[in-house]
Amino acid sequence: MNLSSDHLAIRTTCAYCGVGCGVQATPKGDGTATISGDTLHPANRGRLCVKGSALGETLGLEGRLLYPQVRGEDGLRRVSWDAALDQVAGQWRSIIAEHGPQAVALYVSGQLLTEDYYVANKLMKGYVGSANIDTNSRLCMSSAVAGYKRAFGEDLVPLCYDDLELADLVVLVGSNTAWCHPILFQRILKAKEQRPEMKLVVIDPRRTATCELADLHLPVKAGTDVWLFNGLLSYLARIGAMDPAFVEQHTNGLTAALETANIDCADPAAVARICRIDPALLLEFYELFAATAKTITAYSMGVNQSSAGTDKVNAIINCHLIGGRIGQPGMGPFSITGQPNAMGGREVGGLANMLAAHMDLENADHRDVVQTFWDAPVMADSGGLKAVDLFKAIEDGSIKAVWVIATNPVVSMPDADQVRRALSRCELVVASDIMQDTDTNAYADVLLPALGWGEKDGTVTNSERRISRQRAFLPAPGEALPDWKILSLFAQRMGYSGFDFRSAHGVFAEHARLSGFRNTSADVPRMFDISGLAGLNAREYDDLEPTQWPVRRLPSGQLEVEERLFVDRQFAHADGKARFVPTAARAPVNAVSEDFPLVLNTGRVRDQWHTMTRTGKAPTLADHTAESFVDIHPQDALLHGVREGELARISSEWGAMVARVQHGGGIPRGSVFIPIHWNNQTASDARVGALVNPEVDPVSGEPEFKHTPVRIEQFRVNWHGFILSRSSKALDSVAHWTRIQGRSFNRYELAGRNVIKDYSGWARTLLGVHDAEADWLEYEDRTAGVYRAVHIVDDRIEQCIFLSPRQDMPSRAWLASLFSKEVLSEIDRVGLLVGMPVEKGADAGPTVCSCFGVGRNTICQSIVEKDLKTVQEVTACLKAGGNCGSCVPEIKKILVQTRVEAAEEKL
Ligand code: SF4
Repeated sequence: MNLSSDHLAIRTTCAYCGVGCGVQATPKGDGTATISGDTLHPANRGRLCVKGSALGETLGLEGRLLYPQVRGEDGLRRVSWDAALDQVAGQWRSIIAEHGPQAVALYVSGQLLTEDYYVANKLMKGYVGSANIDTNSRLCMSSAVAGYKRAFGEDLVPLCYDDLELADLVVLVGSNTAWCHPILFQRILKAKEQRPEMKLVVIDPRRTATCELADLHLPVKAGTDVWLFNGLLSYLARIGAMDPAFVEQHTNGLTAALETANIDCADPAAVARICRIDPALLLEFYELFAATAKTITAYSMGVNQSSAGTDKVNAIINCHLIGGRIGQPGMGPFSITGQPNAMGGREVGGLANMLAAHMDLENADHRDVVQTFWDAPVMADSGGLKAVDLFKAIEDGSIKAVWVIATNPVVSMPDADQVRRALSRCELVVASDIMQDTDTNAYADVLLPALGWGEKDGTVTNSERRISRQRAFLPAPGEALPDWKILSLFAQRMGYSGFDFRSAHGVFAEHARLSGFRNTSADVPRMFDISGLAGLNAREYDDLEPTQWPVRRLPSGQLEVEERLFVDRQFAHADGKARFVPTAARAPVNAVSEDFPLVLNTGRVRDQWHTMTRTGKAPTLADHTAESFVDIHPQDALLHGVREGELARISSEWGAMVARVQHGGGIPRGSVFIPIHWNNQTASDARVGALVNPEVDPVSGEPEFKHTPVRIEQFRVNWHGFILSRSSKALDSVAHWTRIQGRSFNRYELAGRNVIKDYSGWARTLLGVHDAEADWLEYEDRTAGVYRAVHIVDDRIEQCIFLSPRQDMPSRAWLASLFSKEVLSEIDRVGLLVGMPVEKGADAGPTVCSCFGVGRNTICQSIVEKDLKTVQEVTACLKAGGNCGSCVPEIKKILVQTRVEAAEEKL
């Protein structure tokens, strides 16, 4: 059923992380919708994190790409779909005719729906005859895929979310789950609340928000996970914490894996030294793992994004296999995917080294199954270029046409300046997107408008193999089309048959049929099988409830679903056994040096997603982390001459960027952390991808985002400042800027190198206030270099600018609150002139709880005034932390700090 119980809301799925939460969207009739959690969806049971809750704020059409456009000498011009697709097809045909099928490529995305992905993959591998289709999922989970395939024979996630609640020990490795998969983390915490004996261990070089609620945090040196898990394998074997019958009957390769592990990792003290952790902590973890049958090791980017990512995955799986900790409730190795449909992409073979329906390009039988099913004229017979190599091939000219779909590689790829160079040299760059202006679209020769979340229709698969419907609840804007349709129209122009799909349902039905085609033990058996869904009619497809695969239809007509795999101890290798994989530990490819003495780690912040093309539109999500930052240990900051709150330039062998220095408290010496989200649309110079080394895992091709040698130095400026304005500003003349979306205003954080002689004239020019009679309040202290001005129109604040030689300036939260007032009071005007709120409590402080908009100052004040002692008391008093819970670790920290400071004051 696609209607919720109130018969007004449409049931769909969140557009962001791989948790895949169910969403209820109630259209408001103005192109937006009210969003709530779907209580019937098994992933979230009604809860949403702040990103999911704010989906409604991202639905407006501002900035949308609505019509096909082609670049000419005068820039982009609007054309018809026929003209745009004819041009692309014509150029592809002539490039293929002259240079062969390897000269064209698709670069797609885990944001695509499975139906889009299926058509893209069929087009390239079965009709163009090239496997040069790769996806941004290469950047986040291809090591997990490769690890599963090596161990189990197929890309199979063994367990389900319910297992996280059944486990007695959950080990989170390289995963800031509290921020990146908040609803899953809340499920773990809830289970832990009900069963306090359940243990949570976090293995992460940083002390993240996730660690705040863990029983044990192992702050391992970046890149040493294989040593840690090889040491665990060795320890488990040594103390006899094994399941010999399981190992004997259901696995191969333990001896070789143990021999490899024992080379460097037989001595826990030596492992602790390499991992730079307290040996007692290491042993505590080893003992806990050995003593706990129901153990889940869940991992994400900290494991996958490494030049040894696949070995890290297999080192973890080895430790589960030796004790038979797999295939039973509450246990197993669990990769948690970053993107909403990375899993769907895996199912249709969206990676350059995969074929559709979990079959392999290199396997002739598999190729025969797919080619026969598709009745395809050709079939790629070897792996295509993986993301990093694909953009190298574009730069060297061997790929002459690339079509980028639903992703922003100029921001998200490693060595992102190389991607920029590659696209600027490419003969034909096509981009399908929902937004007009992105860093990547700036290089497109042809722009094609795609449907976005809320407009498109299809399926996604979450991290527990659960297929859910994403349903349209808004009309298609402009001339935007679904991606599967755009690709099908293109394929027809190329003269290919097999692309006469009429609906997403038609595509899904074909995908489901392929999964069951010749899928028998006597022919080409695969565990990926959704043939049970192949016969759904359009209505049944529309009504499809969230369903885990495998899903087969029994002779009785009932659907049979497996919530967890390997219950029967049968794996997908030909002999039915799982494989231990020897994992020789090795360091990250590039070591620190005198020139680049710090290790750069990259990742997400709590309230943003990818390159902010969607979340950047939501004011609710803008406040928690307004700017890009570089988190550094205070002693390293001192050593390298940078100061908290000021700007720093961070550079590597590959590129450079500017970010604000912060001491988050969780970063070890010798490292820095920078978020991945900011780009040229949101900041002058904050693309961290430009710095990241393009080293990749040799098996998976996943880049090493977590370990790039960098240096940091002061970014000298003469002044700091900010603007809040109801209109957008062009700030090219300013040395550094960041744009932040507010409610009915834009906020710009600025820093400049120019010497401002005439503050008033300069500020008026920048803000576009040329009318001498304008209501313009200003204050200037030339000696101190302090200036502020407020432009008022009809008693409402229109815009304001604050400048100072220091970065500690008035509260933006207080000023933002003035933009919601229809009339400024006298007391507001006084506050604006003195540069601070005059009324007590007017400044809520920086946002902590985005769900309820509760600021730090409000929380601190309540803790002191009402003597609040626990997070629960803070939540009861202010609601903060009472929705998605992702701010709970922060509230816990604030609680401790505030109470200590209050006690000190009294002493
Ligand atoms: S955890 Fe948050 S971002 Fe992830 S799917 Fe659920 S609501 Fe969306």
